[in-house]
Amino acid sequence: MSDQNAISITVLSKTPITPTLFSFTTTRPDGFRFEAGQFVRLGVAPNELQVNQTAPKNAISPKIFRAYSVVSSPYDEHLEFFSVVVPDGAFTSQLQHLQVGDTLYLNPEPFGFLTLARYQEPAPQDLWLFATGTGLAPFISMLGDMMTWQNYRDIVLAYSSRTLAELAYVDKIADLQSQFGQFIDTPARLQFVPIVTREKADGCLNERIPTLIESGKLETHVGLSLNPATSHIMLCGNPQMVEDTKETLKSKGLTMNRRGVGNIAVENYW
Ligand SMILES: Cc1cc2nc3c(=O)[nH]c(=O)nc-3n(C[C@H](O)[C@H](O)[C@H](O)COP(=O)(O)OP(=O)(O)OC[C@H]3O[C@@H](n4cnc5c(N)ncnc54)[C@H](O)[C@@H]3O)c2cc1C
Repeated sequence: MSDQNAISITVLSKTPITPTLFSFTTTRPDGFRFEAGQFVRLGVAPNELQVNQTAPKNAISPKIFRAYSVVSSPYDEHLEFFSVVVPDGAFTSQLQHLQVGDTLYLNPEPFGFLTLARYQEPAPQDLWLFATGTGLAPFISMLGDMMTWQNYRDIVLAYSSRTLAELAYVDKIADLQSQFGQFIDTPARLQFVPIVTREKADGCLNERIPTLIESGKLETHVGLSLNPATSHIMLCGNPQMVEDTKETLKSKGLTMNRRGVGNIAVENYW
């Protein structure tokens, strides 16, 4: 569906994380459905933002659209998104000024195949989720879906940022773990592995994801092996991390998931 059919949604809250990262929630249009891990196209009309209210109303202000993974689970009442601020970025230089009550536009067709339903073989056993920065978004959505906790025995979430302040959603991850731990008899065992690469941070590993996999440090840290016969592996975020990690995994015998078969699924953000 084209962006011309986008429908308006209203900003309900905004949470600053660092000067270049924030999350926000919006209304969810009736009938809008998606699978955990999918992305949508969000639009902003700069002239309609409250921050630009002094701009001449008749000035032409075409909407700008970008792909955004949905953070909220398919069952949540509202939609949530996690955004970077790119200096001079056409979209985020506007989006960073969002205020509660502002209007955004949602192309109501969900996109993307970074979903757990894509895996037919191997059967679900251990799930490895590797994210940098805002690439965490689809994995929070998956962890908000009870099926994820029911279907897997082990889940490893390795999430890398440059600084400790940029590690977002850490409390939310702990909340999801305790919430689903209560509802299900034998929920997946989640191991959250925070990684901070540009400063020392207590409790965090401090090397890039491909380096931690290549050296075997990650597997030793979690006490599990990446295994072609059992592992589902998803990579999301920075294209360099995705590319390097994919190649490292392939060198260990893991395969790209194609037509449902294989271990690795990826999504690049640029
Ligand atoms: C499938 C998909 C899902 C995406 N989901 C998200 C999401 O959930 N949250 C989000 O913030 N962005 C996401 N993006 C990126 C998003 O679409 C925009 O690129 C981003 O909002 C910046 O838009 P911009 O117009 O300001 O800058 P652009 O002109 O789009 O990008 C300029 C440059 O900024 C850098 N950049 C772009 N996105 C990011 C990012 N997320 N983190 C760090 N650097 C970046 C790259 O170097 C890029 O070349 C996604 C992209 C894709 C393809």
